[in-house]
Amino acid sequence: MDIANELRKIIDGTVLAPGDHGFDRARRPWNLTVDQPVRAVVEAAHAADVAALVRHARLAGLTVTAQPSGHGASGTTDGLILLRTGRLDELTIDPQARTARAGAGVKWGQVLKETSPHGLLGLAGSSPVVSVTGYTLGGGLSWFGRKHGWAADHVRAFDVVDADGTPARVTADSDPDLFWALRGGGGDYALVTAIEFDLHPAPVLYGGRMVWSADHAPALLDAYREVTATAPDELTVWYELLQIPGAPPTVVVDSTFLGDAATAEDLLRPFEKAAAPNSDTRAVLPIADLGTITAEPTDPAPGRSRAELLTGVDDRTAATLLERPIDPLLTVQLRHLGGALSRPADNGGATGPLTEPHALYMLGAAPDRDAETAVRERQDEIATALLSQTSGRKPYTFLAPGETAAAAFTAGTLERLRDVKRSHDPHGVFRANYPIPG
Ligand SMILES: Cc1cc2nc3c(=O)[nH]c(=O)nc-3n(C[C@H](O)[C@H](O)[C@H](O)COP(=O)(O)OP(=O)(O)OC[C@H]3O[C@@H](n4cnc5c(N)ncnc54)[C@H](O)[C@@H]3O)c2cc1C
Repeated sequence: MDIANELRKIIDGTVLAPGDHGFDRARRPWNLTVDQPVRAVVEAAHAADVAALVRHARLAGLTVTAQPSGHGASGTTDGLILLRTGRLDELTIDPQARTARAGAGVKWGQVLKETSPHGLLGLAGSSPVVSVTGYTLGGGLSWFGRKHGWAADHVRAFDVVDADGTPARVTADSDPDLFWALRGGGGDYALVTAIEFDLHPAPVLYGGRMVWSADHAPALLDAYREVTATAPDELTVWYELLQIPGAPPTVVVDSTFLGDAATAEDLLRPFEKAAAPNSDTRAVLPIADLGTITAEPTDPAPGRSRAELLTGVDDRTAATLLERPIDPLLTVQLRHLGGALSRPADNGGATGPLTEPHALYMLGAAPDRDAETAVRERQDEIATALLSQTSGRKPYTFLAPGETAAAAFTAGTLERLRDVKRSHDPHGVFRANYPIPG
Protein backbone atom coordinates (compact mmCIF):
# COMPACT_ATOMS: atom_id res chain seq x y z
CA MET A 1 0.00 0.00 0.00
CA ASP A 2 1.36 3.45 -0.89
CA ILE A 3 0.47 5.22 2.32
CA ALA A 4 1.31 8.71 1.07
CA ASN A 5 -0.88 8.41 -2.00
CA GLU A 6 -3.76 7.05 0.07
CA LEU A 7 -3.39 9.97 2.47
CA ARG A 8 -3.21 12.55 -0.33
CA LYS A 9 -6.71 11.48 -1.40
CA ILE A 10 -8.19 12.50 1.96
CA ILE A 11 -5.93 15.28 3.28
CA ASP A 12 -6.24 18.93 2.17
CA GLY A 13 -2.87 19.80 3.70
CA THR A 14 0.51 18.43 2.64
CA VAL A 15 1.57 14.79 2.69
CA LEU A 16 5.26 13.97 2.31
CA ALA A 17 6.88 10.55 2.08
CA PRO A 18 10.51 9.38 1.94
CA GLY A 19 12.02 10.58 -1.35
CA ASP A 20 9.68 13.59 -1.64
CA HIS A 21 11.27 17.00 -1.85
CA GLY A 22 10.99 18.57 1.61
CA PHE A 23 10.41 15.28 3.44
CA ASP A 24 13.64 15.43 5.45
CA ARG A 25 13.02 18.99 6.50
CA ALA A 26 9.40 18.23 7.43
CA ARG A 27 10.31 15.28 9.65
CA ARG A 28 13.18 17.11 11.36
CA PRO A 29 12.45 18.03 14.97
CA TRP A 30 13.60 21.18 16.77
CA ASN A 31 16.28 19.19 18.58
CA LEU A 32 18.66 18.30 15.74
CA THR A 33 20.34 15.45 17.63
CA VAL A 34 17.12 13.45 17.26
CA ASP A 35 16.53 11.52 14.05
CA GLN A 36 12.89 10.85 13.20
CA PRO A 37 12.48 7.99 10.77
CA VAL A 38 8.77 8.22 9.92
CA ARG A 39 6.65 6.67 7.14
CA ALA A 40 5.07 9.96 6.17
CA VAL A 41 4.58 13.51 7.37
CA VAL A 42 1.11 15.06 7.27
CA GLU A 43 0.85 18.83 7.64
CA ALA A 44 -2.80 19.31 8.53
CA ALA A 45 -4.52 22.29 6.90
CA HIS A 46 -7.36 22.24 9.42
CA ALA A 47 -8.97 20.12 12.13
CA ALA A 48 -10.92 18.10 9.53
CA ASP A 49 -7.58 16.85 8.16
CA VAL A 50 -6.70 15.56 11.62
CA ALA A 51 -9.98 13.64 11.80
CA ALA A 52 -9.49 12.23 8.28
CA LEU A 53 -5.96 11.14 9.15
CA VAL A 54 -7.07 9.35 12.31
CA ARG A 55 -9.95 7.55 10.56
CA HIS A 56 -7.53 6.35 7.91
CA ALA A 57 -4.89 5.33 10.46
CA ARG A 58 -7.47 3.40 12.48
CA LEU A 59 -8.61 1.41 9.45
CA ALA A 60 -5.10 0.87 8.06
CA GLY A 61 -3.57 -0.10 11.41
CA LEU A 62 -1.21 2.90 11.43
CA THR A 63 -0.01 4.97 14.37
CA VAL A 64 0.08 8.77 14.45
CA THR A 65 2.33 11.00 16.52
CA ALA A 66 1.54 14.71 16.75
CA GLN A 67 4.38 17.14 16.90
CA PRO A 68 3.95 20.90 16.62
CA SER A 69 7.71 21.58 16.45
CA GLY A 70 9.53 18.74 18.21
CA HIS A 71 11.14 20.58 21.11
CA GLY A 72 10.44 17.39 23.04
CA ALA A 73 11.20 14.87 20.28
CA SER A 74 12.42 11.52 21.57
CA GLY A 75 13.24 9.80 18.27
CA THR A 76 10.97 6.82 18.85
CA THR A 77 9.01 7.39 15.65
CA ASP A 78 9.99 4.45 13.46
CA GLY A 79 7.06 3.43 11.27
CA LEU A 80 4.79 6.26 12.47
CA ILE A 81 2.86 8.97 10.63
CA LEU A 82 4.10 12.33 11.89
CA LEU A 83 1.35 14.92 12.17
CA ARG A 84 2.46 18.54 11.97
CA THR A 85 -0.05 20.96 13.48
CA GLY A 86 1.65 24.30 12.72
CA ARG A 87 -1.15 25.43 10.40
CA LEU A 88 -3.77 25.05 13.14
CA ASP A 89 -2.83 28.54 14.25
CA GLU A 90 -6.11 30.27 15.05
CA LEU A 91 -6.01 32.22 18.30
CA THR A 92 -8.84 34.00 20.09
CA ILE A 93 -8.51 36.03 23.27
CA ASP A 94 -11.49 36.95 25.44
CA PRO A 95 -10.15 39.62 27.82
CA GLN A 96 -13.45 39.89 29.71
CA ALA A 97 -13.77 36.18 30.39
CA ARG A 98 -9.95 35.95 30.78
CA THR A 99 -9.70 32.97 28.48
CA ALA A 100 -7.84 32.08 25.32
CA ARG A 101 -8.56 29.52 22.64
CA ALA A 102 -5.55 28.39 20.65
CA GLY A 103 -5.25 25.99 17.73
CA ALA A 104 -2.85 23.09 18.26
CA GLY A 105 -0.04 24.84 16.37
CA VAL A 106 -0.10 28.14 18.31
CA LYS A 107 3.11 29.07 20.12
CA TRP A 108 3.38 30.81 23.47
CA GLY A 109 4.95 33.93 21.94
CA GLN A 110 1.83 34.48 19.82
CA VAL A 111 -0.44 34.15 22.87
CA LEU A 112 1.54 36.59 25.03
CA LYS A 113 1.70 39.13 22.20
CA GLU A 114 -2.11 39.13 22.10
CA THR A 115 -2.73 39.09 25.85
CA SER A 116 -0.07 41.69 26.70
CA PRO A 117 -2.12 44.81 25.82
CA HIS A 118 -4.86 43.55 28.17
CA GLY A 119 -2.48 43.05 31.12
CA LEU A 120 -3.18 39.32 30.99
CA LEU A 121 -0.83 36.38 30.76
CA GLY A 122 -1.00 32.65 30.10
CA LEU A 123 1.19 30.26 32.06
CA ALA A 124 4.10 30.24 29.62
CA GLY A 125 7.59 28.90 30.21
CA SER A 126 10.87 30.36 29.07
CA SER A 127 10.63 29.82 25.30
CA PRO A 128 8.24 31.77 23.06
CA VAL A 129 8.47 29.18 20.26
CA VAL A 130 7.26 26.17 22.24
CA SER A 131 3.62 25.31 21.39
CA VAL A 132 0.88 25.86 23.94
CA THR A 133 -0.55 22.41 23.22
CA GLY A 134 2.65 20.32 23.42
CA TYR A 135 3.76 22.19 26.55
CA THR A 136 0.39 22.01 28.29
CA LEU A 137 -0.26 18.33 27.54
CA GLY A 138 2.99 17.68 29.41
CA GLY A 139 1.96 19.81 32.40
CA GLY A 140 3.73 23.05 31.48
CA LEU A 141 6.23 24.38 34.01
CA SER A 142 5.71 28.12 33.84
CA TRP A 143 7.59 31.16 35.05
CA PHE A 144 4.38 31.73 37.00
CA GLY A 145 3.89 28.18 38.29
CA ARG A 146 4.75 29.19 41.84
CA LYS A 147 1.82 31.61 41.81
CA HIS A 148 -0.69 29.72 39.67
CA GLY A 149 0.47 26.08 39.44
CA TRP A 150 0.73 23.94 36.31
CA ALA A 151 -0.42 25.36 32.98
CA ALA A 152 -2.34 22.10 32.50
CA ASP A 153 -4.46 22.79 35.57
CA HIS A 154 -5.79 25.96 33.93
CA VAL A 155 -7.21 24.27 30.83
CA ARG A 156 -10.97 24.65 30.42
CA ALA A 157 -11.50 22.44 27.38
CA PHE A 158 -9.77 20.53 24.63
CA ASP A 159 -11.09 20.06 21.12
CA VAL A 160 -9.90 16.59 20.20
CA VAL A 161 -10.18 13.89 17.59
CA ASP A 162 -10.65 10.56 19.31
CA ALA A 163 -9.19 7.20 18.28
CA ASP A 164 -12.14 6.55 15.96
CA GLY A 165 -11.53 9.83 14.17
CA THR A 166 -14.52 11.56 15.76
CA PRO A 167 -14.18 15.20 16.83
CA ALA A 168 -15.18 15.92 20.43
CA ARG A 169 -14.97 18.68 22.99
CA VAL A 170 -13.44 17.39 26.23
CA THR A 171 -14.18 19.12 29.53
CA ALA A 172 -14.22 18.14 33.18
CA ASP A 173 -17.88 17.17 32.76
CA SER A 174 -17.90 15.55 29.31
CA ASP A 175 -15.10 13.01 29.93
CA PRO A 176 -13.42 13.45 33.35
CA ASP A 177 -10.82 10.70 32.81
CA LEU A 178 -9.62 11.94 29.44
CA PHE A 179 -9.71 15.56 30.66
CA TRP A 180 -7.55 14.52 33.62
CA ALA A 181 -5.07 12.55 31.48
CA LEU A 182 -4.60 15.26 28.87
CA ARG A 183 -3.70 17.73 31.60
CA GLY A 184 -0.11 16.60 32.13
CA GLY A 185 -0.16 12.99 30.95
CA GLY A 186 1.09 13.78 27.44
CA GLY A 187 -0.52 13.24 24.03
CA ASP A 188 -1.14 9.50 24.11
CA TYR A 189 -4.93 9.41 24.30
CA ALA A 190 -6.40 11.72 21.63
CA LEU A 191 -5.25 14.29 19.10
CA VAL A 192 -5.85 17.85 20.23
CA THR A 193 -6.93 20.37 17.61
CA ALA A 194 -7.51 23.34 19.94
CA ILE A 195 -7.17 24.17 23.60
CA GLU A 196 -9.02 26.66 25.79
CA PHE A 197 -7.35 27.96 28.91
CA ASP A 198 -7.39 30.64 31.60
CA LEU A 199 -5.56 33.92 31.40
CA HIS A 200 -4.36 35.65 34.55
CA PRO A 201 -4.22 39.34 35.39
CA ALA A 202 -0.70 40.75 35.61
CA PRO A 203 -1.01 44.54 35.84
CA VAL A 204 2.77 44.76 36.37
CA LEU A 205 5.35 42.21 35.28
CA TYR A 206 8.91 42.75 36.43
CA GLY A 207 11.83 40.61 35.38
CA GLY A 208 15.20 40.29 33.73
CA ARG A 209 18.68 38.86 33.85
CA MET A 210 21.68 39.69 36.02
CA VAL A 211 25.12 38.46 34.94
CA TRP A 212 28.38 38.10 36.88
CA SER A 213 31.76 36.50 36.22
CA ALA A 214 32.03 32.90 37.40
CA ASP A 215 34.21 33.67 40.43
CA HIS A 216 31.09 34.96 42.19
CA ALA A 217 29.27 31.63 41.71
CA PRO A 218 29.53 30.44 45.37
CA ALA A 219 28.34 33.74 46.89
CA LEU A 220 25.49 33.95 44.39
CA LEU A 221 24.43 30.37 45.09
CA ASP A 222 24.27 31.31 48.78
CA ALA A 223 22.11 34.29 47.78
CA TYR A 224 19.88 31.98 45.69
CA ARG A 225 19.37 29.77 48.75
CA GLU A 226 18.62 32.81 50.92
CA VAL A 227 16.16 34.41 48.47
CA THR A 228 14.30 31.20 47.61
CA ALA A 229 13.94 30.21 51.27
CA THR A 230 11.45 33.04 51.85
CA ALA A 231 10.34 34.06 48.34
CA PRO A 232 6.64 34.91 47.94
CA ASP A 233 4.81 32.92 45.27
CA GLU A 234 4.89 35.98 42.98
CA LEU A 235 8.70 35.75 42.74
CA THR A 236 10.50 33.13 40.64
CA VAL A 237 14.29 32.91 40.49
CA TRP A 238 16.56 30.75 38.34
CA TYR A 239 20.30 30.45 39.04
CA GLU A 240 22.50 29.39 36.16
CA LEU A 241 26.14 28.52 35.53
CA LEU A 242 26.74 29.42 31.90
CA GLN A 243 29.65 28.41 29.71
CA ILE A 244 29.35 29.75 26.16
CA PRO A 245 32.24 28.32 24.06
CA GLY A 246 34.96 30.90 23.55
CA ALA A 247 33.62 33.21 26.26
CA PRO A 248 34.55 33.40 29.94
CA PRO A 249 32.26 31.40 32.26
CA THR A 250 29.50 33.43 33.90
CA VAL A 251 26.79 33.15 36.52
CA VAL A 252 23.31 34.29 35.59
CA VAL A 253 20.27 34.97 37.74
CA ASP A 254 16.97 35.24 35.87
CA SER A 255 13.85 36.35 37.68
CA THR A 256 10.24 37.34 37.27
CA PHE A 257 8.02 39.07 39.79
CA LEU A 258 4.28 39.62 39.52
CA GLY A 259 4.32 43.03 41.16
CA ASP A 260 6.11 46.34 41.39
CA ALA A 261 9.80 46.98 40.78
CA ALA A 262 10.63 48.30 44.25
CA THR A 263 9.32 45.17 46.00
CA ALA A 264 11.14 42.91 43.55
CA GLU A 265 14.40 44.79 44.00
CA ASP A 266 14.13 44.42 47.79
CA LEU A 267 13.47 40.69 47.48
CA LEU A 268 16.42 40.23 45.10
CA ARG A 269 18.83 42.46 47.08
CA PRO A 270 20.94 39.53 48.41
CA PHE A 271 22.24 38.94 44.87
CA GLU A 272 23.49 42.51 44.56
CA LYS A 273 24.95 42.30 48.08
CA ALA A 274 26.91 39.19 47.01
CA ALA A 275 28.50 41.13 44.15
CA ALA A 276 27.60 43.96 41.77
CA PRO A 277 26.43 42.40 38.48
CA ASN A 278 28.31 43.11 35.25
CA SER A 279 24.99 43.54 33.49
CA ASP A 280 21.39 43.78 34.67
CA THR A 281 18.33 43.88 32.39
CA ARG A 282 15.73 43.79 35.18
CA ALA A 283 12.84 46.18 34.58
CA VAL A 284 9.07 46.34 34.32
CA LEU A 285 8.48 44.67 30.98
CA PRO A 286 5.58 44.04 28.62
CA ILE A 287 4.14 40.54 29.02
CA ALA A 288 4.87 40.03 25.31
CA ASP A 289 8.61 40.32 26.08
CA LEU A 290 8.72 37.44 28.58
CA GLY A 291 10.95 35.37 26.26
CA THR A 292 13.61 38.11 26.19
CA ILE A 293 14.59 37.36 29.81
CA THR A 294 16.43 34.15 28.94
CA ALA A 295 16.65 34.79 25.16
CA GLU A 296 16.82 31.06 24.46
CA PRO A 297 17.65 30.01 20.90
CA THR A 298 14.52 29.93 18.76
CA ASP A 299 16.03 28.17 15.74
CA PRO A 300 16.48 24.38 15.74
CA ALA A 301 19.72 23.32 17.44
CA PRO A 302 21.50 20.08 18.41
CA GLY A 303 21.46 19.68 22.17
CA ARG A 304 21.31 17.10 24.89
CA SER A 305 19.49 17.96 28.10
CA ARG A 306 18.95 16.23 31.40
CA ALA A 307 16.68 17.34 34.24
CA GLU A 308 16.44 16.21 37.84
CA LEU A 309 14.21 17.29 40.70
CA LEU A 310 16.08 18.25 43.85
CA THR A 311 14.82 17.67 47.37
CA GLY A 312 16.77 20.77 48.43
CA VAL A 313 19.89 22.78 47.74
CA ASP A 314 22.06 22.10 50.78
CA ASP A 315 25.82 22.62 51.26
CA ARG A 316 26.55 19.30 49.61
CA THR A 317 24.47 20.13 46.54
CA ALA A 318 26.18 23.49 46.30
CA ALA A 319 29.63 21.92 46.63
CA THR A 320 28.85 19.40 43.88
CA LEU A 321 27.56 22.03 41.48
CA LEU A 322 30.52 24.33 42.07
CA GLU A 323 33.22 21.68 42.31
CA ARG A 324 34.73 22.40 38.89
CA PRO A 325 33.84 24.13 35.60
CA ILE A 326 30.70 22.77 33.95
CA ASP A 327 32.17 22.21 30.49
CA PRO A 328 31.45 20.57 28.12
CA LEU A 329 27.96 21.65 29.27
CA LEU A 330 26.61 25.03 28.21
CA THR A 331 24.43 25.46 31.24
CA VAL A 332 23.65 24.05 34.64
CA GLN A 333 20.51 25.72 35.91
CA LEU A 334 18.53 25.65 39.14
CA ARG A 335 14.85 26.61 38.86
CA HIS A 336 12.98 27.46 42.04
CA LEU A 337 9.69 25.53 42.21
CA GLY A 338 7.37 25.26 45.22
CA GLY A 339 4.42 27.55 45.85
CA ALA A 340 1.28 26.51 43.98
CA LEU A 341 3.24 23.79 42.14
CA SER A 342 3.61 21.96 45.43
CA ARG A 343 -0.07 22.20 46.40
CA PRO A 344 -2.86 19.97 45.05
CA ALA A 345 -4.99 21.88 42.53
CA ASP A 346 -8.79 21.79 42.63
CA ASN A 347 -9.75 19.06 40.17
CA GLY A 348 -6.12 18.98 39.02
CA GLY A 349 -4.76 16.94 36.12
CA ALA A 350 -2.30 14.07 35.82
CA THR A 351 0.79 16.06 36.76
CA GLY A 352 -0.20 16.42 40.40
CA PRO A 353 1.72 18.42 42.98
CA LEU A 354 5.50 18.68 42.74
CA THR A 355 6.89 18.60 46.25
CA GLU A 356 10.54 19.00 45.19
CA PRO A 357 11.49 22.66 45.73
CA HIS A 358 14.04 22.97 42.89
CA ALA A 359 14.64 21.62 39.41
CA LEU A 360 18.11 21.04 37.99
CA TYR A 361 18.45 21.41 34.22
CA MET A 362 21.68 20.61 32.40
CA LEU A 363 22.18 21.30 28.70
CA GLY A 364 25.09 20.80 26.34
CA ALA A 365 25.55 21.40 22.62
CA ALA A 366 25.86 18.11 20.75
CA PRO A 367 26.79 18.83 17.13
CA ASP A 368 28.35 15.37 16.71
CA ARG A 369 28.44 12.01 18.43
CA ASP A 370 31.67 12.65 20.36
CA ALA A 371 30.31 15.92 21.74
CA GLU A 372 27.04 14.21 22.66
CA THR A 373 28.91 11.46 24.53
CA ALA A 374 31.00 14.01 26.42
CA VAL A 375 27.88 15.99 27.36
CA ARG A 376 26.04 12.89 28.50
CA GLU A 377 28.98 11.74 30.61
CA ARG A 378 29.24 15.11 32.36
CA GLN A 379 25.48 15.13 33.03
CA ASP A 380 25.67 11.59 34.39
CA GLU A 381 28.60 12.56 36.60
CA ILE A 382 26.73 15.49 38.16
CA ALA A 383 23.49 13.52 38.51
CA THR A 384 25.32 10.63 40.17
CA ALA A 385 27.07 12.95 42.61
CA LEU A 386 23.66 14.43 43.49
CA LEU A 387 21.86 11.09 43.78
CA SER A 388 21.00 11.47 47.45
CA GLN A 389 19.56 14.96 46.81
CA THR A 390 17.39 14.04 43.81
CA SER A 391 13.95 12.46 43.98
CA GLY A 392 14.19 10.42 40.78
CA ARG A 393 11.09 12.10 39.39
CA LYS A 394 11.29 14.36 36.33
CA PRO A 395 8.81 16.86 34.89
CA TYR A 396 7.23 15.30 31.78
CA THR A 397 8.14 18.26 29.54
CA PHE A 398 11.78 17.91 30.60
CA LEU A 399 12.14 14.23 29.69
CA ALA A 400 15.02 13.58 27.29
CA PRO A 401 15.73 10.84 24.73
CA GLY A 402 16.43 7.55 26.49
CA GLU A 403 14.13 8.39 29.43
CA THR A 404 10.55 7.17 29.84
CA ALA A 405 7.24 8.62 30.96
CA ALA A 406 7.42 6.40 34.05
CA ALA A 407 9.94 8.89 35.51
CA ALA A 408 7.34 11.67 35.46
CA PHE A 409 4.54 10.06 37.45
CA THR A 410 3.76 8.29 40.68
CA ALA A 411 2.81 4.60 40.41
CA GLY A 412 -0.87 5.42 41.03
CA THR A 413 -0.95 8.11 38.35
CA LEU A 414 0.79 5.83 35.89
CA GLU A 415 -1.81 3.12 36.47
CA ARG A 416 -4.66 5.56 35.91
CA LEU A 417 -2.99 6.87 32.74
CA ARG A 418 -2.68 3.26 31.51
CA ASP A 419 -6.41 2.80 32.12
CA VAL A 420 -7.21 5.93 30.10
CA LYS A 421 -4.91 4.76 27.30
CA ARG A 422 -6.58 1.33 27.24
CA SER A 423 -10.10 2.75 27.26
CA HIS A 424 -9.56 5.64 24.83
CA ASP A 425 -6.98 4.24 22.40
CA PRO A 426 -7.22 0.43 22.63
CA HIS A 427 -5.71 -0.08 19.16
CA GLY A 428 -2.72 2.25 19.66
CA VAL A 429 -3.62 4.83 17.02
CA PHE A 430 -1.72 7.52 18.96
CA ARG A 431 1.79 7.62 20.25
CA ALA A 432 3.24 10.44 22.34
CA ASN A 433 6.93 11.36 22.27
CA TYR A 434 7.12 9.70 25.71
CA PRO A 435 4.29 7.15 25.63
CA ILE A 436 2.69 5.68 28.71
CA PRO A 437 4.47 2.34 29.20
CA GLY A 438 2.00 -0.55 28.85
C1 LIG B 1 14.37 25.97 24.54
C2 LIG B 1 13.32 25.20 25.29
C3 LIG B 1 12.69 25.78 26.40
C4 LIG B 1 11.72 25.09 27.10
N1 LIG B 1 11.14 25.66 28.21
C5 LIG B 1 10.21 24.97 28.90
C6 LIG B 1 9.62 25.51 30.07
O1 LIG B 1 9.96 26.62 30.51
N2 LIG B 1 8.68 24.78 30.72
C7 LIG B 1 8.28 23.55 30.26
O2 LIG B 1 7.41 22.93 30.87
N3 LIG B 1 8.82 23.02 29.17
C8 LIG B 1 9.78 23.68 28.49
N4 LIG B 1 10.35 23.11 27.39
C9 LIG B 1 9.94 21.77 26.98
C10 LIG B 1 8.72 21.83 26.05
O3 LIG B 1 7.59 22.24 26.76
C11 LIG B 1 8.51 20.45 25.49
O4 LIG B 1 9.58 20.16 24.61
C12 LIG B 1 7.15 20.21 24.87
O5 LIG B 1 7.22 18.96 24.24
C13 LIG B 1 6.66 21.26 23.90
O6 LIG B 1 7.42 21.35 22.73
P1 LIG B 1 6.70 21.47 21.33
O7 LIG B 1 5.64 22.48 21.38
O8 LIG B 1 7.76 21.58 20.29
O9 LIG B 1 5.98 20.07 21.25
P2 LIG B 1 6.50 18.74 20.56
O10 LIG B 1 7.78 18.37 21.16
O11 LIG B 1 6.44 18.88 19.08
O12 LIG B 1 5.37 17.71 21.02
C14 LIG B 1 5.41 17.22 22.32
C15 LIG B 1 4.40 16.13 22.52
O13 LIG B 1 3.16 16.71 22.84
C16 LIG B 1 2.11 15.91 22.31
N5 LIG B 1 1.34 16.72 21.37
C17 LIG B 1 1.72 17.87 20.80
N6 LIG B 1 0.71 18.33 20.06
C18 LIG B 1 -0.31 17.45 20.15
C19 LIG B 1 -1.61 17.39 19.62
N7 LIG B 1 -2.08 18.32 18.83
N8 LIG B 1 -2.38 16.34 19.98
C20 LIG B 1 -1.93 15.37 20.79
N9 LIG B 1 -0.69 15.39 21.32
C21 LIG B 1 0.10 16.41 21.00
C22 LIG B 1 2.72 14.73 21.62
O14 LIG B 1 2.76 13.65 22.51
C23 LIG B 1 4.12 15.22 21.33
O15 LIG B 1 5.00 14.14 21.28
C24 LIG B 1 11.35 23.78 26.69
C25 LIG B 1 11.99 23.20 25.59
C26 LIG B 1 12.98 23.87 24.91
C27 LIG B 1 13.68 23.18 23.78
